Amino acid sequence: MPHPQSRATAQGGKITSYQSIILFRKFTADQIFTGLEMLPGQHVLICNRDGEIADLVSMADAGDDIESFQGTLSPGFVNAHCHIELSHLKGKIPERQGLVNFVQQVMALREADAETKLASMIQAEQELFTGGTVAIGDICNTTDSIALKMNSPLQWHNFIEVSGFVEAGAEKRFNAAGEIRQQFIQQLSTMPATLSPHAPYSVSEKLFSLLNEHTAGQLISIHNQESPAENDLYEKKSGDFLRLYENMGIDITAFSATGQTSLKSWLPNINKNQTILSVHNTHTSIADVEFIETVTGKEVKDYFFCICINANLYIENSLPPLEMLMNKGCKMVIGTDSYASNWQLNVMEELKAIRKHFPAIPWEQLLRWATINGAMALGLGDRLGSFDRGKKPGILLLSDDKASRLL
Ligand SMILES: [Zn+2]
Repeated sequence: MPHPQSRATAQGGKITSYQSIILFRKFTADQIFTGLEMLPGQHVLICNRDGEIADLVSMADAGDDIESFQGTLSPGFVNAHCHIELSHLKGKIPERQGLVNFVQQVMALREADAETKLASMIQAEQELFTGGTVAIGDICNTTDSIALKMNSPLQWHNFIEVSGFVEAGAEKRFNAAGEIRQQFIQQLSTMPATLSPHAPYSVSEKLFSLLNEHTAGQLISIHNQESPAENDLYEKKSGDFLRLYENMGIDITAFSATGQTSLKSWLPNINKNQTILSVHNTHTSIADVEFIETVTGKEVKDYFFCICINANLYIENSLPPLEMLMNKGCKMVIGTDSYASNWQLNVMEELKAIRKHFPAIPWEQLLRWATINGAMALGLGDRLGSFDRGKKPGILLLSDDKASRLL
């Protein structure tokens, strides 16, 4: 239901309800992207002082006191994949060393004192906020980010990550993550927190099974097919991950290859109506996508493909198969990943990197991925992602290839 004050009434051909600049603000720009489409012709976006959208009207009906800008108005961005707790690793890990070296570096460098971590997270949050991000899907391995999120202007979905490739340790790992999740729920009672598998190469079948039972109907995240080695592991029990297990002293004698790609091997482990936020998908094939189609709407409620192009360039110097995913009608969203594998935490920079490497993809399409699709993926579609009446999506000005916040 729209707020009574937000309902426009035409009198003598003019909209009169939004006259009060004390109650309302009116914005226009060269273009308005609604979250779904770029509006043709000149329009004016009207919202109340809290940023709640009241209306979107033609210029002729907007009355006076309009704030006018050069550029494009857009709803706030949703960053569907981040690890805010790794913010202190900015600039610490060399680029283009491959995923296995990257994972080992993160494990070796992630410890730091609490003050350093919090100061880095505050800085990262500031960058996210000023860059136009309004909501984040955030991976949490620890409770480190709870203090930050207690007073945050951003909306967070916390994915409490579980890993462990040795079957025998599955229950212990699962219970430890469950305890972390309890702390998030107790201390951040308004924020959703769901357990999520880290990646197919780091979660045993037993652990997948525990997660599957526990997350029925929930939103979960997983790092999927980020490197070619992940498919090598499942198809042939070969490739670079064997080096990782050896270096970490993990005995994988009990693991046998499935002869299938990673995705075809792990996805059947999740079959209780979960919504899956599948992150990276750099080595996902058309056959994998067709496999996803056979379970979506049945064992799996919905499946979103999160693209973190700068992280792919940073870690592996590779590109995700965007044209294939788009042509297959996949639901795409945007993530920055963490400072460990990115030069910044800025959704606009992700869109610019995609535009640079995939110039044929329409800009409007990219904005949709960064706004309404991200909001839908995080279950925030009723509040964020578009300029529909009653939502409070944030209002951005996109100008000179930068995003800034108007509200
Ligand atoms: Zn990640």
